[in-house]
Amino acid sequence: MQSTPAVEVVGLVKRYGGKTAVDGLDLTVPRGTVTAVLGPNGAGKTTTVETCEGYRRPDGGSVRVLGLDPVTEGGALRPRIGVMLQNGGVYPGARAEEMLRHTAKLHRDPLDPAMLVERLGLGTCGRTPYRRLSGGQQQRLALAMAVVGRPELVFLDEPTAGLDPQARRATWDLVSELRADGVTAVLTTHFMDEAEHLADHVVIVDGGRAIASGTPTELCRGGAEGTLRFTGRPGLDLMSLLNALPADSAALEPTPGSYRIEGKVDPQLLATVTSWCAQHGVMPDRIAVERRTLEDVFLELTGKELRG
Ligand code: ATP
Repeated sequence: MQSTPAVEVVGLVKRYGGKTAVDGLDLTVPRGTVTAVLGPNGAGKTTTVETCEGYRRPDGGSVRVLGLDPVTEGGALRPRIGVMLQNGGVYPGARAEEMLRHTAKLHRDPLDPAMLVERLGLGTCGRTPYRRLSGGQQQRLALAMAVVGRPELVFLDEPTAGLDPQARRATWDLVSELRADGVTAVLTTHFMDEAEHLADHVVIVDGGRAIASGTPTELCRGGAEGTLRFTGRPGLDLMSLLNALPADSAALEPTPGSYRIEGKVDPQLLATVTSWCAQHGVMPDRIAVERRTLEDVFLELTGKELRG
């Protein structure tokens, strides 16, 4: 039983009237991992996650969460999962800490609400009604409510959108600790650094489909593998340099005296460039190797910046 993935979505289709929001999406989340679902606005991330949570019925394909059907077996599934929605789902008049304590009591082996209040910096607003909390406080409370029941699996939709750096860091630390405790997490995010920092596995979604997936390292390894930059005197003979490089490389001078080599950046390429410089009496002022980031991969695959 434990060997089944925490989430297994195959060929999911979801339409709103005539609009296809999710169009044959596959998603597998192994147990005990953090999976980040990345995608531009309108890619279908929230719809997918809400379908996994049992809030939406698929129009096609299949969804299993902890081995269960979220719609027909929702009653058995819900106590085992935690859900952090983008917009609360909380009584506006209820007080923050009271609500958290109440939620904790609904579970057999909850986390300590006082610990969560302290960890997420909610101590000063424990008695404040929900509607009077700031956006960031409401968000941190939603995270606390999602995890207080010590769920096996937690869905976090944009958990740090709009948070200040300190609250963001506290959220990241909490997610990392939950993972160390064996909790599986699925998070949607617009932040590449969040995915790079937290996720074991990243799925890039665009136009309602998963267009790439893998560990952040695997995703960054494909395609143009890196960039080598150096600065030197302007107007170097790039054709001569290119002839010395492997066939799939590119050599550019985007601004005078600033050079960029693209391709499989490995020790051999570095040696070739420095030896070419030595042969041509070029002393680079600065030489740097840059790996591709998830941001680069995302842009290459979708042609879009994350915030549309
Ligand atoms: P964002 O990053 O902006 O939250 P998303 O990737 O989560 O976007 P979804 O919210 O799943 O994307 O939306 C996918 C598509 O479905 C969008 O074009 C959106 O406008 C549309 N959509 C979402 N919810 C509804 C709805 N209730 N009725 C009609 N269309 C909807």
